[in-house]
Amino acid sequence: MNIAGLLKTATIDFPHRLAAVVFTAGCNYDCSFCHNRALLGAAELMEDGEVLRFLEKRAGLLDGVVLSGGEPTLQKDLAEFAGTLKGLGYDVKLDTNGSDPEAVGRLLDGGLVDYVAMDYKAPLSRYPEICGAGADGFLETLGLLQASEIEWELRTTVLPELREEELREMAEDVPPLPLYALQLYRPVRIEKLRVYTPQDIGRIAEALKGVQPNVTARC
Ligand code: SF4
Repeated sequence: MNIAGLLKTATIDFPHRLAAVVFTAGCNYDCSFCHNRALLGAAELMEDGEVLRFLEKRAGLLDGVVLSGGEPTLQKDLAEFAGTLKGLGYDVKLDTNGSDPEAVGRLLDGGLVDYVAMDYKAPLSRYPEICGAGADGFLETLGLLQASEIEWELRTTVLPELREEELREMAEDVPPLPLYALQLYRPVRIEKLRVYTPQDIGRIAEALKGVQPNVTARC
């Protein structure tokens, strides 16, 4: 594992669990709004052993571990690492952009993940413009999550580039979701476009309820 960082305690990253967050290095996307850019090409990595020793000590005190990034599915030994966490008694959450259905499928098939949060960044046709790469794998990974019995959600950061009509189309273009989180965009640059406020996102979530009953504003 290429681990770029460890958040030792997080209360809101893993629903209903007190969790640590492991940030892996590297990503196959290049989103202009990325807040974890420093992790993408992190020069200094942590030793897996150092992270696991910490998690061994916290076993029983923390409920879960979030595998985040960067993009965790780029890590070749992700399933093995998740298996070690499960062996320590942790619930495991994966944060992913959904581009590698095989890696997600391995975790699901092995019973190595309890919760998946997958990004739904934009209308699929706009992925190259917004993420720097196509939406390959997204629909396949979505199908795997639908067929699974674990908890999962899709989440969209409400970027200024996304028009409200597009947010509606996105909600219509996926099947009914167990949870669809609309997240506040926190600017990483000087914006030329108007940034959606928490009130805007609450209003949009309300308007999407007819399409996605489990939509929520996460601001
Ligand atoms: S997928 Fe996530 S980590 Fe990767 S560039 Fe986009 S926002 Fe950053």
